[in-house]
Amino acid sequence: MSLPVRKFDAVVVGAGGSGMRAALELARGNLKVAVVSKVFPTRSHTVAAQGGIAAPLANSGDDNWHWHMYDTVKGSGFLGDQDAIEYMCRHAIEAVVELEHMGMPFDRLENGKIYQRPFGGHTQNYGSSKMALRACAAADRTGHAMLHTLYQQNVRANTRFFVEWMALDLVRDSRDGTVLGVTALEMETGEVYILQAKATILATGGAGRIYWATTNAMINTGDGLGMVARAGLPLEDMEFWQFHPTGVAGAGVLITEGVRGEGGYLVNARGERFMERYDPNLKDLATRDVVSRAITTEIKDGRGCGPERDHVLLKLDHLGPDVIKQRLPGIREIAIKFANVDPIRDPIPVVPTVHYQMGGIPTNYRGQVVTPEGNNPEAIVPGVYAIGECACVSVHGANRLGTNSLLDLLVFGKAAGGQVIEDLSYLPKAHRELPKEAADRPLARLARLAVSKQGERVSEVSAALRKTMQAHCGVFRFPDLLAEGVAKVTEICERARHLHIDDRSKVFNTARVEALEVQNLVETAIATVVSAEARKESRGAQARIDFPDRDDKNWLKHTLWYKEDNRLAYKPVHVRPLSVEPFKPKDPESQADAWDAEAADPARTAALLLGSS
Ligand SMILES: Cc1cc2nc3c(=O)[nH]c(=O)nc-3n(C[C@H](O)[C@H](O)[C@H](O)COP(=O)(O)OP(=O)(O)OC[C@H]3O[C@@H](n4cnc5c(N)ncnc54)[C@H](O)[C@@H]3O)c2cc1C
Repeated sequence: MSLPVRKFDAVVVGAGGSGMRAALELARGNLKVAVVSKVFPTRSHTVAAQGGIAAPLANSGDDNWHWHMYDTVKGSGFLGDQDAIEYMCRHAIEAVVELEHMGMPFDRLENGKIYQRPFGGHTQNYGSSKMALRACAAADRTGHAMLHTLYQQNVRANTRFFVEWMALDLVRDSRDGTVLGVTALEMETGEVYILQAKATILATGGAGRIYWATTNAMINTGDGLGMVARAGLPLEDMEFWQFHPTGVAGAGVLITEGVRGEGGYLVNARGERFMERYDPNLKDLATRDVVSRAITTEIKDGRGCGPERDHVLLKLDHLGPDVIKQRLPGIREIAIKFANVDPIRDPIPVVPTVHYQMGGIPTNYRGQVVTPEGNNPEAIVPGVYAIGECACVSVHGANRLGTNSLLDLLVFGKAAGGQVIEDLSYLPKAHRELPKEAADRPLARLARLAVSKQGERVSEVSAALRKTMQAHCGVFRFPDLLAEGVAKVTEICERARHLHIDDRSKVFNTARVEALEVQNLVETAIATVVSAEARKESRGAQARIDFPDRDDKNWLKHTLWYKEDNRLAYKPVHVRPLSVEPFKPKDPESQADAWDAEAADPARTAALLLGSS
């Protein structure tokens, strides 16, 4: 069946912070760019980001990119690729200043500079107990401000938006695997198109909807991951999911770490500030994996609050009404709406809730998608790029530091845009001919939905998936639960192949969209649970009861999951940065001290920072 074809230099799938930053780079480079989004751009999930964006501007205390790099490597459980981390941290100041010049309404200090607050895991002087004030914030609505700023710049640069379009699958040339664009469904009409492009950038965001309790929006269904998996490419480090320590109990809505950055703290049923026991150094501003596990342990050991003893409390009334109203107005609104408490007077009931995927589509730090080929663990897949939360660069490794995601969107969005401009300059002007089978796979999926007379209900399959993931692959991971989880999710994947919807209309058929989304959720979930079951160690967000220690000897490597036969492979971590000395993984307990002793020498630090931007 032949489909209508629209041709572009580049197609960006996703209009969140990463997609819009890349699109802006491309449009400014005079390329013909299409941005496809399931929702209006400024409704993309980036809009929900609250606390801030990391950049060592040193506006309120000493800071530099090398300290930031150290925190990011250490926070990642040493699984982050150090070349990519150096790239991100070195470009952070530039990224934020560019955003400021685009009109981003950051909060200001009295001297007019950008306001910065502390955030978990961001320290001064290579992990000292002194926090770095590194998170640049627009109150507690930083993502909202950022997304609107980027959208306005894109409108100005004539980026073409396809709003309420859903990309379905990659189009690949079977001769050499080059990606030639995507198939996409226009929701308003139900028509399917091929959006042909010399470069396709996936920026589809996270997939937190695979879990029952999540801070993620309904649209975060891992579509980019599903597309890549169905195209035969691997997904990287999918076992690592960040549980944010402070979701509103019962609702999952996020209470930003910025609250603790402003001085809020956690207490248990006895009124104890329990974080002092788990991380005496950083306390409530320890990294998210540490705080999430601490809360879960407090609840498990019977020190939870409320009639069910199933949450802890986040106290901020001592900050006073002025600070809360000025710096945390959105949080106050969320607490009143979702927890029925006004934080000016009462603490907020919180529990860990799924928040962020560290894994994703394997890329290098220029945004190019990579896959093992022969002896090369990272051969570039021509024509396709991935950025933002759907990508695994990997700068976050086993655990992301708060405020490093918004930074990653900007830095790698711009880098991918630049790489596309360069790559396209070597290609002929004309587009390649499309293969005959270009749209076969998605059309077959749509045809099955169109003719099914009976089958599985989308809502039931999706609920079964989310509950299974929550129970079998949560904050703490148990060997028997993981093994059962693999079996259960495999069964749910099979059910997802036989979905049935009653609504057969073409126009705005949201039932069909949800069915297609579930088919992406199951790919993400099976990749997660299979990868988690196989990794026999604890590192960052993967906390195994049976293997409680980090095992660098056997597991300092990235997982690659392939859809075909649920196969796993592994590839090395990039332990060499671009220009500075590596931060070497040592015994987890002694790591901070080992590095501190080496690097605390100011002359050495100054030498490392020479030529930094
Ligand atoms: C509540 C909350 C608060 C956060 N706060 C912070 C913070 O303070 N600092 C920080 O650094 N990080 C924060 N994060 C993380 C950060 O916001 C996200 O990781 C980041 O915004 C993701 O951006 P993105 O560009 O990758 O994707 P998104 O912003 O999620 O955008 C994805 C886009 O892809 C589109 N899309 C998806 N599938 C398809 C498809 N099949 N076809 C077409 N379009 C598609 C969507 O329509 C959307 O436009 C927070 C996250 C949450 C959930």
